[in-house]
Amino acid sequence: VQLTFLGTGDARQVPVYGCHCRACRRAQLHPSLRRSACSVCIEHDGTTFLIDAGQRQLPERYPPGSLDAILLTHYHMDHVAGLFELRWGCNTRIPVHGPDDPQGCDDLYKHPGILDFRPPLQAFKPFELGTLRVHPVPLNHSRPTLGYCVESATTRLAYLTDTIGLPHDTRDYLKGLALDLLILDCTHAPFTAQGDPGLERKARTVNHNDWVHAEAVCRSLQPRSTLLTHIGHAMDEWLLDNALPAGIFVAGDNVELTL
Ligand SMILES: [Zn+2]
Ligand SMILES: [Zn+2]
Ligand SMILES: [Zn+2]
Repeated sequence: VQLTFLGTGDARQVPVYGCHCRACRRAQLHPSLRRSACSVCIEHDGTTFLIDAGQRQLPERYPPGSLDAILLTHYHMDHVAGLFELRWGCNTRIPVHGPDDPQGCDDLYKHPGILDFRPPLQAFKPFELGTLRVHPVPLNHSRPTLGYCVESATTRLAYLTDTIGLPHDTRDYLKGLALDLLILDCTHAPFTAQGDPGLERKARTVNHNDWVHAEAVCRSLQPRSTLLTHIGHAMDEWLLDNALPAGIFVAGDNVELTL
């Protein structure tokens, strides 16, 4: 299974417009350290699909016929913005799978163009994509959101963003699958490490993992390795001063992996 991180940033991306923090300044100087809208491309046995489509320039990057499907985690703009550029194409269709969210995003359902929105996926009902088996699992977020476990004959990876913690049934289901690779939302630096008690309260209301929540998910799922994604600039800055435990790494834009 070939995996490419198209983007690894949160909704604000890195650098944040107008920000002078160390992480943002570094990303301004070194374009390879920028983080754009969070998504991956997965290729296996002649099947190519995206998980999320928040990236710009998808039409240039994926010529007609090159994408077999797009899987959406949810309908927040940083995960679907690229669909708006694709939809007015012609002579091709792209199947789009996603969670049951009657609202969708803007007028995408009303005017789908070449986007072939399929019936909503059902949690814990695996389906086949080429020779891969895909398991949709619910996540904890402000809209209906699915994570995906992608299983080949030899490996299993899970892509879990956007989320804070995991619903119990998702955690138990994924434990049963024994993951080789976990790709996990870690948008925020530890709330408790920032010396602001208000942030601790905030931790109970936000929709994304901080490092403390992400680490707890890693501990409960016990994957062979973990890559953190959907990274915000404060998390990126925290990483300049803090090391992660063995087996946990930070994803980067345009990083490619073979599993
Ligand atoms: Zn997001
Ligand atoms: Zn910044
Ligand atoms: Zn979101």
